Amino acid sequence: MAASPSTIAAPELYSHPARRASLGEGLWVSRLLPSRQQRMVGAWCFADHFGPSPVPPGKKAMDVAPHPHTGLQTVTWLLDGELLHNDSLGSRSIIRPGELNLMTAGHGISHAEETPPEHSNNLHGLQLWLALPDNQRNCEPSFQHHRELPRLDEDGSRLQVFIGSLGELYSPAQVFSPVVAAEISLQAGAGTRLPLNADWEYALIIVEGELQVTGTQQSLGTEALHYLAPGAQQLDLVSDTAARAILIGGAPFTEAIVMWWNFVGRSAEDITQARADWQAGTRFGTVTAYRGERLPAPELSGRPRASR
Ligand code: MN
Repeated sequence: MAASPSTIAAPELYSHPARRASLGEGLWVSRLLPSRQQRMVGAWCFADHFGPSPVPPGKKAMDVAPHPHTGLQTVTWLLDGELLHNDSLGSRSIIRPGELNLMTAGHGISHAEETPPEHSNNLHGLQLWLALPDNQRNCEPSFQHHRELPRLDEDGSRLQVFIGSLGELYSPAQVFSPVVAAEISLQAGAGTRLPLNADWEYALIIVEGELQVTGTQQSLGTEALHYLAPGAQQLDLVSDTAARAILIGGAPFTEAIVMWWNFVGRSAEDITQARADWQAGTRFGTVTAYRGERLPAPELSGRPRASR
């Protein structure tokens, strides 16, 4: 039996400002996770929002040279434009809006991401990381590109689920924790109701316009991670203007992780070993399709520590 709206409390909401981070070559992004206030949301341990940025003809809005990953999955989701992914397994993929690039680093992989030679005039998207649970974090690396992802259009709202499931929509992408990621688009004046798992935590990342959560007086905007604490069973969103948001969520991640540069481990030793392996040219393979030098690891200053 459905409870009447008045008996359902609005979710407990905390907004944490993004910080600007540089990916090199003049590319600035909004880093939403991790922050001092919020280290993770479920297994989500990293979130960058880049653009919207103009891309002049013949220029690369993004050019991130080969770099390694371990202990995580990278999730690339575009709102506009395109990106070329090349990795040390030989995977090559051009991703466009509405498609998913999912790279499972497992024990070790390296990749490069750049604007392809043929491109449109804007780039806008997100890169998210999922920490792998301990029993999967040293698995074989793999790469998946998904073009067909479930979508629901309804009364001025569109929902597209690219990781996990939400309501009746299931993403085919392979993940290893109970998690979700979805894009929500609202036309001006439209609203939507999303079912939530009361045991999970969630966050909204607004990528265009502003949204209101019914039952709160706040308007949620870009440049912040809007954290929703466990306990809510649904989320009612409305918008006066056209708006788009990404919802991420999952069961609270119970393992303490150590995150440094592009590595997720469980101890300082995991991190120093991964760094040494990259510098020695072992473990992470070679991205042969990329023209240019690979990224050197930064200096380790101090001992990497667990984040929770
Ligand atoms: Mn990467």
